[in-house]
Amino acid sequence: MSNGPYAFLGGKVVPLADAKVGIMTHALHYGTAAFEGIRGNWNEAHGKVYIFRLKEHYERLIRGCKILQMDLPYSADEYVDITTNLLEQNGYREDVYIRPLAFKSQELVANLKLHEIESDFGLVILPFGSYIDNHRAIRCQTSSWRRPDDSVMPTGVKLTGLYTTSILAKTEAVKAGFDEAILLNINGTVSEGSGENLFMITDGRISTPGETENELLGITRDTVKTLVKNELGMDVVERVIHRSELYLADEAFLTGTAAHVTSMGELDSRKIGTGEVGPITKQIQDIYADVVKGNNPKYMDWCTAVVPGGG
Ligand code: PMP
Repeated sequence: MSNGPYAFLGGKVVPLADAKVGIMTHALHYGTAAFEGIRGNWNEAHGKVYIFRLKEHYERLIRGCKILQMDLPYSADEYVDITTNLLEQNGYREDVYIRPLAFKSQELVANLKLHEIESDFGLVILPFGSYIDNHRAIRCQTSSWRRPDDSVMPTGVKLTGLYTTSILAKTEAVKAGFDEAILLNINGTVSEGSGENLFMITDGRISTPGETENELLGITRDTVKTLVKNELGMDVVERVIHRSELYLADEAFLTGTAAHVTSMGELDSRKIGTGEVGPITKQIQDIYADVVKGNNPKYMDWCTAVVPGGG
């Protein structure tokens, strides 16, 4: 085989350039796929890439597959092995983004069903730097697009079809000169960012939209809840959040695998707090940055170590 980079498709490792699907692929037409976004963080001092919460990402992928009636032959542990082997083979000595995709692979159009349609699993790993510049507080806009309700489309798992909404919202915000879109749900209360969950701090209390607010159930959201409890001794309250509460919050931040912990400095031309990265947000950012890089011995269970090239 060539010298890489490599991908995984059709049950085997193949050169990335050969990892292709046909024009009639069901998932391409109908959004019948589940995916993940996972980060591997390069730790120069350790000579290792630490993949953050790898198994939990695959557990969420498996939940998406269940909803889309995809029977793939892999367990979460097998997905973990496929991923660590591919990363080892690709040999990256830098931060990477890991993108698994479980999709209805059969070349079959004009066929609106989930059952009796073949599925496949694909995996690519790419060098990846920052997604949003999170050294500063970003400017956000409430989107004119709403986060769908679970009765429209399942929202707690990462289904590709749902990303049309995120992409419409992000495009609208960026074209209007903002960094990120904040989506309300169908009830008009706060759901999340286009690719991030949202937290708000008011009078020393941290809150985030509850699980019924139709946001993706983010792994960084869960991580931040745990870190805030263990390291700052604070509880995160899950509740309904109104848009105007965000205008009046002392601090607000977004969380996601790609975005890490990103401070919200402004929403709809109103400063949140001072408009700068707030003190509690900064503490959470610093704790999180150490944990994902494998620099905090307390949280090494969350980090899967990979030595580039094996060894
Ligand atoms: N919401 C949406 C819509 C997302 O795409 C993401 C990124 N996966 C998140 C929230 C954050 O999820 P996680 O922390 O698992 O990356």
